[in-house]
Amino acid sequence: MIIGSHVSFGASGLVGSVKETLGYGANTFMFYTGAPQNTIRKEISKEKTEEAFKLMKENNINIDNVICHAPYIVNLANNKDDQKYNFSITFLKNEVKRCEELGVKYLVLHPGSSVGLDKFVALDNIAFALNKIITSDIKVRVLLETMAGKGSEVGSTLEEIKYLIDKVNLKDKIGVCLDTCHLNDAGYDMSDFEAFLDKFEELIGLKYIKCIHINDSKNAVGSHKDRHANIGFGTLGFLVIKNILDNKRLENIPKILETPYIGENDEDKNRIYPPYKFEIEMLKKGEFNPHLMEDIRSFYKN
Ligand code: FE
Ligand code: FE
Ligand code: ZN
Repeated sequence: MIIGSHVSFGASGLVGSVKETLGYGANTFMFYTGAPQNTIRKEISKEKTEEAFKLMKENNINIDNVICHAPYIVNLANNKDDQKYNFSITFLKNEVKRCEELGVKYLVLHPGSSVGLDKFVALDNIAFALNKIITSDIKVRVLLETMAGKGSEVGSTLEEIKYLIDKVNLKDKIGVCLDTCHLNDAGYDMSDFEAFLDKFEELIGLKYIKCIHINDSKNAVGSHKDRHANIGFGTLGFLVIKNILDNKRLENIPKILETPYIGENDEDKNRIYPPYKFEIEMLKKGEFNPHLMEDIRSFYKN
């Protein structure tokens, strides 16, 4: 099982990400090259990257399974503000370069939000931008994430994802990142994952799936909410998620947890704990731990 979580990139860059990953008992990870909610980016240190590669090698982490996530504020769907739209394209071109500097093969991207535009105009804007970003000289594959359909988000149906892929010229540089919470919220029943994969295969082709975000959801199928829940503590439930992880058709695809930290709603904001070490342990064991939250709190409090 290739499993990891969202980790931070931080001041030391990739080394910090690898160390955090090892602390979770994971064998892969996903990071943002800076804060997910802004586009301020620092130069990447060659030295720190080399140190990270050494650490990965020592611990059997394959860089081919590592995922970079583009910041979620870039929006390729809306071009009403020309300057903003062009900035998003330039930013993502640079993000691809950063991935290449780091040796990372996959860049996950939220397709975007139409904000007042017709859905197909929005999709065409995304496709146009993707063809500016995805050029024959790049080594990175851009993965379109399946969205929950919150607000005016596009890319929440397989038909929309297909529409985008069809319009991208270089098919070997485009792919898909499934997100189990988003799929549920978009209206796909994850309890029949086999049927979902059949549909995906028929419409798009399973070969395009290169990453899966494994999250439980706080809301019902089709709610269009996008609120992630800890594994086994949401509407999908432990068995449905375990079943997705065990699916042979996606065996070699990196699985990335983006579940919420524990204590986020507590008063003391200094005491929030990452759930990943415990969720990964639980998923590897294949057995639900109803005391997960308490276990996490007592582990980190000491
Ligand atoms: Fe995402
Ligand atoms: Fe996600
Ligand atoms: Zn989400």
